[in-house]
Amino acid sequence: MDKGHEKKRIGNSIFPIKESELSELLIINTIMNNSQDTIYFKDRNSTFVLSSKAHALGFGIDSPLELIGKNDYDYFPKDFADNAYRDEQQIIDTGEPIINRVEKWIKPDGNIVWLLASKYPLYNSQGEIIGTWGTSRDITSLKNAQEELVQLNTQLEEANRQLRILSAIDSLSGLYNHRHFFEELEKAFTLYKRQKEKGKDITFSVILLDIDDFKTINDTYGHLMGDLAIRHIGEILTRNTRSTDSCFRYGGDEFAILLPDTSIQEASLVAEKIRTVIEKTSISSKQSELYITISLGVTSFYEAKNVNCLFQNADKKLYSSKHQGKNKVTF
Ligand code: GH3
Ligand code: MG
Repeated sequence: MDKGHEKKRIGNSIFPIKESELSELLIINTIMNNSQDTIYFKDRNSTFVLSSKAHALGFGIDSPLELIGKNDYDYFPKDFADNAYRDEQQIIDTGEPIINRVEKWIKPDGNIVWLLASKYPLYNSQGEIIGTWGTSRDITSLKNAQEELVQLNTQLEEANRQLRILSAIDSLSGLYNHRHFFEELEKAFTLYKRQKEKGKDITFSVILLDIDDFKTINDTYGHLMGDLAIRHIGEILTRNTRSTDSCFRYGGDEFAILLPDTSIQEASLVAEKIRTVIEKTSISSKQSELYITISLGVTSFYEAKNVNCLFQNADKKLYSSKHQGKNKVTF
C-alpha cells in the first residue's frame, strides 16, 4: 500500500468549514443518526463498539447504545454471523476491504432481507488495525424487482413461443401457412425415410387441393366472398381430419393435408369425403349463398424418391383432377 494512501486512512479535517458551524461531532452524529444505510464499528473480535441508528433499528432496537458489547451472533442466524466473522478476520489479517457483497438475511419470521455490504479495516491514529467498520444497504426491493424481471423474462419467452406458433399460421384460413407446410413435409419425409431404412413398413400421405374457378368466384361475388370461401375451407378441413393430421394453406386457393401413418387408399377416402362435404356445404354472406367445389390430388411417401418429387406427384394428380373436369380426386 502506498504511503499517501496510508495517511488518508484516518484522515484529519473533512471540510473547509469553521468548527463553530459544523463540528466533527455534529457531522458524525448527523450521519450516525440519519443515514438510511447502516454504519457500524467493531473491535478485533467483531464486537460492536459503535452503531448507527439505522443499524439498531434493523434489529428492532431503538437505541444504538444497546448494541455496544453485542455481536452478530446476538441478532443474525449462525450461518450469517459465521460468514461475517470470517470476512472481518480476513480484513483484519490482510487490511483489504470487502466491497459490495450481497448478503441474504433470513429473519426469524421467514422474511428475507437482501443487504449490500461493504466492510473496511478500522485503523487507530498509529495506523494499526483495531477492528473493522462497515456499511450495509437494504436492497430487498431492488432484488425483488430483479426477480420480477426474471419472471417477466420467462413470460416474454413464453409469449415469443406463442408468437412463433402464430407465425406458422395463416390468419385468413386459420390453418398453417406455406412456410410451415414445406418445413413439415421435409420433416415427415426425413422421419419416414429413416423408419423405412430401419425396415419399418409405414407411410404417410399428402392431399393437395385447389378451389375450382376461384378467379370467377372473386370476380362474380367479390373478394370478400372469396375470403369467406377460404375461411370456409379452413373450417371444413380442420373438422374432417384427425387431430394427428395437419392442414395448411400454402397458396392463394391452394391447400394441403399431411396425414401421418396413412396409406394412399385411406388418404383417398379422406379426400373424397372432403370433396363431398365442400360440394354440399354452402357459403353464405348477407348478399349471396354460394356453393364451391375443389379438385384434389393424393400421393404417398412410398411413391417418391425425395420431398420435391413427393410434392410434384401430388401437384400432378391435382392438375389431373382439374383437366378431367374439376371437382375430382386423383390418386
Ligand atoms: P382453377 O379451377 O383452374 O383452379 O381456376 P382458378 O380460377 O381457381 O385459378 P387459380 O387457382 O389460378 O386462381 C387463384 C385465384 O385465387 C387468383 C386470385 O385472385 C385468388 N386469390 C388468391 N389469394 C386470395 C385471397 O387471399 N383472397 C381471395 N379472395 N382470393 C385470392
Ligand atoms: Mg384454383
